[in-house]
Amino acid sequence: MDHAATTPVDPEVVAAMLPFFSNEYGNPSSIHRWGQRADHAITSSREDIANILNCEVDEIIFTSCGSESDNLALRGIALAAREQGNSNHIIISAIEHPAILGTAQHLRNHHGFDITILPVDQHGFTSAEDLRNAIQPDTFLVSIMYANNEIGVVQPISELAEIAHEYNILFHTDAVQAAGQLPLDVENLDIDLMSMSAHKFYGPKGVGMLYARRDTLTHPHQTGGSQENGLRAGTHNVPLIVGMATALNIVAARRSQDNSKMKVLRNKLIKSTLDTIPGALLTGHRTRRLPNNASFVFEGIDGNELIMHLDLSNIAASSGSACKTGNPEPSNVLSALALPSKLSLGSLRLSIGRHTDDSDIEYVQQVLPTVINNMRDNLQ
Ligand code: PLP
Repeated sequence: MDHAATTPVDPEVVAAMLPFFSNEYGNPSSIHRWGQRADHAITSSREDIANILNCEVDEIIFTSCGSESDNLALRGIALAAREQGNSNHIIISAIEHPAILGTAQHLRNHHGFDITILPVDQHGFTSAEDLRNAIQPDTFLVSIMYANNEIGVVQPISELAEIAHEYNILFHTDAVQAAGQLPLDVENLDIDLMSMSAHKFYGPKGVGMLYARRDTLTHPHQTGGSQENGLRAGTHNVPLIVGMATALNIVAARRSQDNSKMKVLRNKLIKSTLDTIPGALLTGHRTRRLPNNASFVFEGIDGNELIMHLDLSNIAASSGSACKTGNPEPSNVLSALALPSKLSLGSLRLSIGRHTDDSDIEYVQQVLPTVINNMRDNLQ
């Protein structure tokens, strides 16, 4: 029930990676045949990914994770914009992942960029009108996530990108949660930069990518060798890149079948939770959410304690409230929804995967109400 945190690596992905850990260990930058074989693996992985994203091969930059992709997008574009002068303003949303929020804050605090954080409505949506009103003459980048990691809400990114483009502003989207479940054709989506991370779609941890429309990203955030067109120096991680491309190919082939199955299971989970647990509230939107995400808040419940109780019943789940020095605080996402704190501290995210079946859902349906009842009884 925690596939939004990470997913198991598909056995086919493991098999595709293995040779590149052993016999095929060449450095793709080497001129000899062992290097060239590794280089060929990188090239064909890039071609596969470009095919799925409907972009050019040189518009894909391999990175070490989704966080790095987000950093590269924001910093790379910001530094390039500053050189062109007259560009100082970035717009993001209040429910972005810390990889975007933290990078934007760093750009503001240490480099003097002006940042606007757009509010969201009670479902977590960024409004087109708010975006339009926030645009300034010096705005050069809008970054709004495709789908949210906590509440699963899917943003209308094409509509938002269209507004940015009206003003010649670049549009980046963090698609780390979306990549395993939503369409990724960057032409259809009409976006300029997009971050992804393999471990969220049954690929390995430690590898990600940034799609950057040609000529948008001109500043590296890691300098050194000429890998990735000089935008991200460092010897390629061949097995992980091969694994990411294989995982994405598998996702593309089975997405619609997996999504249909997950939606049925997710809807069961949502319905039974709302029906059987008093004071339960669904967070995010009822339908415009990731097929695998069911997220709630429960009145009077401590989310972290709930996770521990579920763990004792063999259920892995996650909560949006982090307990810092004994003082629990709701996450930025739950805070942005403006829920009363007695609700937002009792959050639960259940995220299913392609291998989840009816019996898993039935087990959660049986355990969750009991755990919550017991927790409430103990409070009295
Ligand atoms: N962006 C979103 C929306 C995420 O959910 C995550 C990971 O949870 C990240 C970025 C960071 O990805 P990574 O773990 O690959 O650094």
